Amino acid sequence: MFDVIGFDADDTLWHNESIFTMTQEKFREMLSSHGPEVVDQTLSSTQIKNLKIFGYGIKGFILSMIETSIELTDGEIQGNEIQQILDFGREMLAAPIELLPDVQEVIDELSKKYRLLLITKGDLIDQETKIARSGLADYFTGVEIVSDKNSETYEKILSRHDIAASRFMMIGNSMRSDIVPVVQIGGHAVHIPYYTTWDHEQKHPYIDPKNFKQLKHIGLLPGLIEEM
Ligand SMILES: [Mg+2]
Repeated sequence: MFDVIGFDADDTLWHNESIFTMTQEKFREMLSSHGPEVVDQTLSSTQIKNLKIFGYGIKGFILSMIETSIELTDGEIQGNEIQQILDFGREMLAAPIELLPDVQEVIDELSKKYRLLLITKGDLIDQETKIARSGLADYFTGVEIVSDKNSETYEKILSRHDIAASRFMMIGNSMRSDIVPVVQIGGHAVHIPYYTTWDHEQKHPYIDPKNFKQLKHIGLLPGLIEEM
């Protein structure tokens, strides 16, 4: 049915969104005089506005936190507070890679039968070091770090690797980035939700639930593939 399986990385193979959530808590505390909802809403709209300029990833998030702090304090934010935000970012970039349960075994098993691709978006240097530190790099025949994951991106990747969409299956936690665009170009997809998802990743065009599968955790993936 397919020869190549693509895997998303963040929140599919290892924890990621949890690091953003923890940092946002610290940021909220730092600006506590403005109220948590105001901080969250301002940060969220700043991030989305900045996506086209800074792209996805931690560096863009740091810049959006700085911009939010300037906006909320009417420019009164102090240098030492900006330093604190930069330190939040450094901590995020240095956070250890924590694989999700069963990932190592599943990837090892599937790599014996299929070509595996890692397809992730975000900062090039951050993603490269995370892949290296994950210990999983050798299982993948190709690694694609892209600025966004839409149907054009997937079409380009598949044509570069000479794979027909109908012979490709994508595994990921984001409907918007991993599932919808792959189904739209005629590929297979398995959605494995992470316990928390950034709101932005929740917004996506409707696709018929018959056209993709959903699993509770990655440990169930080899069984599902066997059935298919
Ligand atoms: Mg993800």
